Amino acid sequence: MFDLLITNATLPDGRTGIDIAVRDGRIAAVEAGITAEAGQAIDAGGLLVSPPFVDPHFHMDATLSLGLPRMNVSGTLLEGIALWGELRPTLTKEALIERAVRYCDLAVSKGLMAVRSHVDVSDPRLVTAEALLEVREIVAPYLDLQLVAFPQDGYYREPGIVDALSRALDMGVEVVGGIPHFERTMEDGTRSVEALCRIAADRGLMVDMHCDETDDPLSRHVETLAAQTVRFGLQGRVAGSHLTSMHSMDNYYVSKLLPLMAEARMAAIPNPLINMMLQGRHDTYPKRRGLTRIPQMMEMGIPVGLGQDCVMDPWYSMGTGDLLDVAHMAVHATQMGSIADKRALFDAVTVNSAEIMGLERYGLAVGCHADMVILHCADTAEAIRLRPARLKVIRRGKVVAETAPQVSRIMLDGRPDHVTPADYAPRDAV
Ligand SMILES: [Zn+2]
Repeated sequence: MFDLLITNATLPDGRTGIDIAVRDGRIAAVEAGITAEAGQAIDAGGLLVSPPFVDPHFHMDATLSLGLPRMNVSGTLLEGIALWGELRPTLTKEALIERAVRYCDLAVSKGLMAVRSHVDVSDPRLVTAEALLEVREIVAPYLDLQLVAFPQDGYYREPGIVDALSRALDMGVEVVGGIPHFERTMEDGTRSVEALCRIAADRGLMVDMHCDETDDPLSRHVETLAAQTVRFGLQGRVAGSHLTSMHSMDNYYVSKLLPLMAEARMAAIPNPLINMMLQGRHDTYPKRRGLTRIPQMMEMGIPVGLGQDCVMDPWYSMGTGDLLDVAHMAVHATQMGSIADKRALFDAVTVNSAEIMGLERYGLAVGCHADMVILHCADTAEAIRLRPARLKVIRRGKVVAETAPQVSRIMLDGRPDHVTPADYAPRDAV
């Protein structure tokens, strides 16, 4: 007897007609033709069943603050940082918690159940860290929140931040962040990477730095981060977020840099929506896209997880909490249009990011947490094309969100009376 039985699922790896049985919040069987009784049965009807979406790069302390205290007029990263600097002294713990928890409602409705959020530690009051640590507890039953101590204004720019970052880690923030390209000089950036990797090594923590979020082809912090990863024995525990400078770098230099990243087993976390929005701002035409080299990284075996970065905050007025929006943008911006490419990008918003975050018991295998999403589409390529309704979102074997399938009524003579986007899946594409 199982608690839940999902029948006739298509899995992200392409297997079809699969049943998934759940007992005590864990996946107990994944195979065709399970006949045992279950407390609840859900017929997936051949649709895609995926493990939850995972967002490996987010700012939950800033989310839903759009318009506070004013809008970003230039739309640039630097005005965003300045605007956040205006807002920060007015933040209260209560307001931070309210916005973050409200955002998590939206996230869960989209099947997003794990988020790595940077927490700004530039204000020594650390009200942001206090609030998000509390949010981590509040949302734990339905969303895994991992926190990164992030010195938004630079680790060495202002006195007090070195101490504040260390206090945030003492409080229970679990990943070391950084922003070397925003330090005053390249040399300060280099020193910050070294100091922050040393902290991670001493404390046994992971590292995730905003690294070279710039169009400057001569920025060299990715190289430094890879080198310090090896030096401190942090292989497999370090991620570089954004890495947009690599878009503009000389190809010869990149042919040296990618193997350095692979050697350090460093992960990459590009954020296609925000990178397309913020990079290339000083260009006229031709205008650079500013997205890092995702296909080349994947070819080298560098783990790539895609993040949202922002939803309705000083940097980005858009965003829906849907990681399929991120994958959809990535298909266009990287020109990764084949079926294999789309499956790779689907992995980049699910399994790759789970691995980067070190999530345990994640996936659709026996013994994993019974966390999954039934999407109103045929497969992973269709998921990215349609960004369809999440018909059921399941956490530990219980349905925690439902969305009705999208069906439009049409009133056209001689034509069917309704249209369902999912019915347009290509029949013969391989
Ligand atoms: Zn960020």
